[in-house]
Amino acid sequence: MTSAAAEIRYLHESYPKGVETFQIAPGILWARLPLPFRLNHVNVWLLRDADGWTIIDTGCDTADARAIWEALFAGPLGEGRINRLVATHGHVDHVGLSGWLVDKAGGVPFVSTLGEWMAAQIRIWDARSATSKEVEKFLSGHGCDPATVASYDADRKRTQSMLGALPSSITRLRDGDTIRFGERDWKVIVAGGHAVEHASFWCAEDNILIAGDQILSRISPMIGVFPAIPEADPLAEYLGSLPRFKALPADALVLPSHGLPFHGLHARVDQLASHHELRLDDLARLMDKPRVAMELARGLFTRAVEEGQGRAALAETLAHANYLVGRGRAERMIGSDGRVLYGRASNPDRDLMAAD
Ligand SMILES: [Zn+2]
Repeated sequence: MTSAAAEIRYLHESYPKGVETFQIAPGILWARLPLPFRLNHVNVWLLRDADGWTIIDTGCDTADARAIWEALFAGPLGEGRINRLVATHGHVDHVGLSGWLVDKAGGVPFVSTLGEWMAAQIRIWDARSATSKEVEKFLSGHGCDPATVASYDADRKRTQSMLGALPSSITRLRDGDTIRFGERDWKVIVAGGHAVEHASFWCAEDNILIAGDQILSRISPMIGVFPAIPEADPLAEYLGSLPRFKALPADALVLPSHGLPFHGLHARVDQLASHHELRLDDLARLMDKPRVAMELARGLFTRAVEEGQGRAALAETLAHANYLVGRGRAERMIGSDGRVLYGRASNPDRDLMAAD
């Protein structure tokens, strides 16, 4: 791990504060918006077009974020018009202000994958109704206590309150497209795992990757299973996407949505892959007998659970558990009380061979 870590070099040791911007490459400005979460910031990128600007991602809809955007509009973005807003993906910290920004810029195109725009629309719609019986069953079936089940609704509504109205139309991005903005051509890399159709942008000519959340510099992107798709295997999608990033040059400049821009793409991809491999092994070890996922989460993410991040820990644990099930290393069973249990496969070697 030490040698891989040594291969990661941050472009700056600090980050833009408040309304500051740092120039990352010719025509690319970096701004950093505050988030009211444990993960306390998101990076946004302002790219200089010949006649204006392209904005990538927005932050959450909060007064702090709006104030920074107002200052950016009065400052660097004041020269020339806004040409488009691009979304890496539809999570609240990336598109929370998308409708507001598109309006503010005079109705410019909103560039997004279809899946991410739709997923964000569904989240807005979903937060308007009470927690369904199915969601309650999902949470209690995986071993959440009644207080955790009860907190779901308020947490979901609080998060979704920072997801403002989305633009009502998109310019659709698809995997493999080439899109031009900021005076550069960018190849679109659509990948799953962290989100359904997350877009990253690769500029071969200048060796720059706008990575979004797919490749982060210090933390590992959240890979979770949520009530809407209980048997999803997002970790397989995520791990399956990593070779596509490793196929890019090792010395690419990587612009992640959280943390610091860096060089060392291959080393970082290797770290992210081995991080999940270790976690999978830890999880398999915890399945010494069939257990509910929340119990496994307490073993795997002890601190996060103690610090009140129980549902996030559950989502991550389920991603790893479903991955083990998909590879024949674990089995998913329904206990006599209706709870979902995960245990080691009775004959993992045979199943593993079958899976290969
Ligand atoms: Zn994010």
